[in-house]
Amino acid sequence: MVSIYNRPSMLFDLTKCIACRACQVACKRWNKRPAEETSLNSDPATQWTNPPRLSSNTWRLVKYKLTYDEENDEVTWTFIPYSCMHCNDPPCLPVCPTKAIYKRDDGIVHIHSERCIGCGYCIEACPYKVRFFADDGYFGIKSIYKCTYCLDRLDAGLEKTACVQACPTEALEFGEYTEMHEKARQRAKAVGGYIYGDEAPLQRGSDIGTASVYVSKAPFEELGFPTEEQRISAPFVMERILLERGGLAIFGLGVLSFLGFALWRRERIGRAKMRELSKE
Ligand code: SF4
Ligand code: SF4
Ligand code: SF4
Repeated sequence: MVSIYNRPSMLFDLTKCIACRACQVACKRWNKRPAEETSLNSDPATQWTNPPRLSSNTWRLVKYKLTYDEENDEVTWTFIPYSCMHCNDPPCLPVCPTKAIYKRDDGIVHIHSERCIGCGYCIEACPYKVRFFADDGYFGIKSIYKCTYCLDRLDAGLEKTACVQACPTEALEFGEYTEMHEKARQRAKAVGGYIYGDEAPLQRGSDIGTASVYVSKAPFEELGFPTEEQRISAPFVMERILLERGGLAIFGLGVLSFLGFALWRRERIGRAKMRELSKE
């Protein structure tokens, strides 16, 4: 039986990453996602990150981050392979009105694409901003894409995700949750650095820990990772959406109408497809 202790987990040691982008390319190849246009731009924050952000076709991205240590007048590059963290208590999950998003027994957060109605609430709820729409959903409805933790590879008995398999410096490691998190703690101690994603469940019952755990020499706030407060507030994002959009009643009516429309459209297109098939 899979528990939090032996569920799949990934360790990202940023002190070992050389920004070769092998993980980024391996993810695209394994998941058959097309290449995207890349360019250098004048924004120092994203200049060397290419493509500049994650998308429905780029599920892992190596971000380039420049930090300046005023005290020692030192500039440092940190390279951050970034994607879905597979949160222990995923904020993207409870906000989904059709229960399209689900967490497998092994903790991997995935989606029943055929149930997604394209409302985008999970995109707003995710503190890591790793979910993106594509136009190739079922029956013309937009669908959401993000890293799957290579669940197809794991289900087929392969030992590692494609990105971990490709990493030449062992900056990425794949293993059981307890082992990866323990290793991360030891590495952070050894390099005198910081760890991210290893929090114990909070008293309020909320668990902001993640299956992916990071180690870095620079503090994670400086690297642009969401703060603890941002992660805790993420589950309450639905409340904000409801207030912004005029209250629960309007929301309920909106969801029901949209659901009705989506189901009607799905059935209609399904019937048309059946008619076409029966002609062939
Ligand atoms: S990182 Fe975002 S998309 Fe991934 S499980 Fe957490 S909330 Fe959901
Ligand atoms: S785990 Fe798989 S899907 Fe996720 S980033 Fe790595 S290669 Fe891509
Ligand atoms: S493959 Fe490894 S070293 Fe290369 S960019 Fe990815 S994490 Fe960094």
